[in-house]
Amino acid sequence: MPIGYRMGKTAMRVAEVERARDHGAFALVEIGVGHPQTCMADGVMASTGCTYGKLMIERLGYGKMATIMVVPGKPAVRVYLRSEFQDELATQEFFSYRKRGVEPSEIPREVAQRAVDVVLNAPEERMFKVEHLPDLAFSRPKGTFAKVKCHQCGEYVFERYARMVGGNPLCIPCSGFTEARSEVLKGQQ
Ligand SMILES: [Zn+2]
Repeated sequence: MPIGYRMGKTAMRVAEVERARDHGAFALVEIGVGHPQTCMADGVMASTGCTYGKLMIERLGYGKMATIMVVPGKPAVRVYLRSEFQDELATQEFFSYRKRGVEPSEIPREVAQRAVDVVLNAPEERMFKVEHLPDLAFSRPKGTFAKVKCHQCGEYVFERYARMVGGNPLCIPCSGFTEARSEVLKGQQ
């Protein structure tokens, strides 16, 4: 989390943008699933204000420790946690506990604090590689408040997610339409 917190700070500084109050920036985190340090994204959310619920953060699923900050009208900024720094951090005792399957809250506090301090005190240029991605294309579907009631369960569903079955709108679970959920439910995202 401290890695992501600082990664977000660096991305904001380079992109010349303040912590998002509304919807002015997007954080595309390059983490995947099934590998350590994915909580980096929690730190990115904390520092940038690009939160999951506001759909301002997306996971690209590359399995890399990097974040791309997209601010409309500006070139995108990519911040990567330098390989050398990842190697240095990996020598921290904290990660030998993690590799043995010890949960973070069960690791002795002073051991965890040492790892946090390494991250918080490292000079930015030693920690991160920063680059601009002027050609990166990223856009969102236009938002709409329109919603319909599912013909089967009676619950509201935002219109773009309704599926027409036999002439009636159904929500995705009632329709049996699985494509939208299959990636998430099968852990294939
Ligand atoms: Zn339904």
